Amino acid sequence: MCMPKIDKKANFSDEFKWPIVGHKNILWYLQHSIVKGQLNHAYLFSGPKSIGKTKITECFVSSLLCRFEHQQNKSDHKNFPCNECVSCTQYQKGLHPDVYWVKIEENEKTGSDKKNISIAQIRELQSKLARRSFLNSYKVAVITNAEKMTTEAANSLLKTLEEPSPKTILILLTSDSTKLPQTIISRCQTLKFLPVSKSEITSYLHQKGIERKKASQLASLSLGRPGIALAMSEDESMYQQYVDEVTSFLKLQNINLASRFKEVSHIIPTGIGFIEQGKLLDYKLNIWNSIIRDLILIKKSSEQFLKNSYNLSELEKVAKQNSKDSLLQIQKNIAITRNYLTMNLNPKLAIENLLINL
Ligand SMILES: [Zn+2]
Repeated sequence: MCMPKIDKKANFSDEFKWPIVGHKNILWYLQHSIVKGQLNHAYLFSGPKSIGKTKITECFVSSLLCRFEHQQNKSDHKNFPCNECVSCTQYQKGLHPDVYWVKIEENEKTGSDKKNISIAQIRELQSKLARRSFLNSYKVAVITNAEKMTTEAANSLLKTLEEPSPKTILILLTSDSTKLPQTIISRCQTLKFLPVSKSEITSYLHQKGIERKKASQLASLSLGRPGIALAMSEDESMYQQYVDEVTSFLKLQNINLASRFKEVSHIIPTGIGFIEQGKLLDYKLNIWNSIIRDLILIKKSSEQFLKNSYNLSELEKVAKQNSKDSLLQIQKNIAITRNYLTMNLNPKLAIENLLINL
């Protein structure tokens, strides 16, 4: 399903105060749907992590459920969500009785996340949705990482999508819609979240008091994902960890294989479990991949698109040492290594194999 055309002249900024960076089309569409009462029974919000899916879901759901019109002694303003009524108050506390979030559960023994969303979780959701709404309004279910549903869980959810109950809304969030069955996708209104422009993220951070140059660097680093830019602006250690990782990777380019192998224990500390090692390595490979991407962009004289522009002089040096073909090969090898990780290959073996082929 494509997003229906809407009248973009309609401006809802007086009625909605959603603190969202970018995604103007999606905001227009959802706000228009609330105002006109034209809601779908199921939505699929698809886009990379930290792009704004959860934030927009929260604004959408709390505005949809807001009971401002029913509020005694209401103030003059009329912005949704009002943050005053019984619904908004409960929503803010995470206690709204008509909102259900389905997330990947934690494994009680290991403390790490389970791999999938189980059929038991979907069945529990279905039994909750079958009950009457507490506040005589909509009931909303949000399934995060919907692509992680097992086949059984997805098939079970399909029944709910095929026979929607009135005033029940399902919102599926996914960073990889290709892993969802087509039967599920076809029953949802899909909204695709695209990267937010660098200028919008920069202005947003600058308005929050961040110096313009740093704001611009963080916007580049986020590659259009406001959540990442914001997190790094609020947590200096997160930013520093990222910068250190870039420096370490660039250093690997200038040392021999024996020295590289000595770095393995720094790349993956041995004191953590197998699953944590895999996650950490995936985080690092994501950064390595972005550096190789930048080096290829420098080869193409497209420096304006660099992610790690704050480190331009170092990147230029390393770019000179490599041919475009060898960089493309490294990019391929990193992708293969990340694929190994999804197949549960030992992270240490996976990284050793990659270091040989850097
Ligand atoms: Zn309210």
